[in-house]
Amino acid sequence: MTGRILIAGAGPSGLLCAVELAARGVPCRVVDRRPGPAGGSRCPTLWQRTLRVLDAAGVSVEALRRAGTALERKRFLIAGADAEVDLRSGDGPFAAPLLIRQEDLERLLLERLRALGGAVEYGVELLEVRRNDGGASRHGAGAPAVVVLRGPDGVEEAPVDRVVCATGAAGRVAGVTGPADVAPVGMRWLLADVSVAPEDTPAPGVEHILRDHAGHGGLVPLPGGGHRLFLALPDDPAGADRQPTPAEVVEAARRSVGVRLTGEPGAIWAVRPRSWVADAFVDGPVVLLGDAARSFPMPVHGLNTGLQEAAELGWKLAA
Ligand SMILES: Cc1cc2nc3c(=O)[nH]c(=O)nc-3n(C[C@H](O)[C@H](O)[C@H](O)COP(=O)(O)OP(=O)(O)OC[C@H]3O[C@@H](n4cnc5c(N)ncnc54)[C@H](O)[C@@H]3O)c2cc1C
Repeated sequence: MTGRILIAGAGPSGLLCAVELAARGVPCRVVDRRPGPAGGSRCPTLWQRTLRVLDAAGVSVEALRRAGTALERKRFLIAGADAEVDLRSGDGPFAAPLLIRQEDLERLLLERLRALGGAVEYGVELLEVRRNDGGASRHGAGAPAVVVLRGPDGVEEAPVDRVVCATGAAGRVAGVTGPADVAPVGMRWLLADVSVAPEDTPAPGVEHILRDHAGHGGLVPLPGGGHRLFLALPDDPAGADRQPTPAEVVEAARRSVGVRLTGEPGAIWAVRPRSWVADAFVDGPVVLLGDAARSFPMPVHGLNTGLQEAAELGWKLAA
């Protein structure tokens, strides 16, 4: 170990926590089971408070804005009513929420971590946390916990003072309860990156919330063009976890929220969220962070909340 803090998971929460520690001169080891950084647009929106938190951590709002576009308004088209909300507050770089692809945000966080001398060990999975219950560990130092890691060179055991589990909603670590251990709530959300027909395309910088047809959903403009479609899906008799086909996404958009799409959708997610919050975010040497600590019934807010939690945790751990 280069330090006695291990961060498992180099998603946005784990990366920002590592940045906060590195900026204060506190070494930590960061591992992620993926072979490299994650790709994909995933979360498209950073809210103003999150922009401030990132800027304070050295991921400058100017760099973030260069990689994204402003989200200025939300338009609600619900039961025949049409209402618009201005999302901007004041002037300046923090005035409007930012639309940015999650892969671009994570790239900027990783660059910041590397600039501070930190690194991520990809291809290394945290398998288990073994808590020492006061007895001497077989490492002898009486460390509060021992982590079991599997990497390219095999399985390794290492003593730690703290292990931050930023392992997301799908991560499973023996000895740590997380959202993946909880049953999903009984509904599904469909999310897809789509091209909207010109006659249904919202004005630039405007998110649409739609409930005029058989269902409800929305369209979020994506930086670089296209939109994120999201809508609630009815239960699927053919299997709740089945991934909808591109043709089914086109049909669901038309039927559910009256939006016509052109071409095939890009990325498609069918999500059965788990609504869960840990009894305690800090449990002895184990700290839960981001989606590993709580899970929203709809796949939103996780990134923004996780980044704000990570900034808070980072300076507290360093102290
Ligand atoms: C389509 C979509 C749209 C979304 N929209 C929004 C939105 O509008 N607003 C919002 O705030 N959020 C949104 N989210 C949610 C957001 O993407 C997540 O909340 C966010 O990525 C959580 O960050 P995290 O760092 O906690 O976990 P993750 O990003 O899930 O990262 C966890 C990391 O841990 C690694 N890992 C897992 N287990 C282990 C292990 N045992 N050992 C080592 N590494 C491990 C994984 O490989 C992963 O890299 C959206 C998500 C999706 C998919």
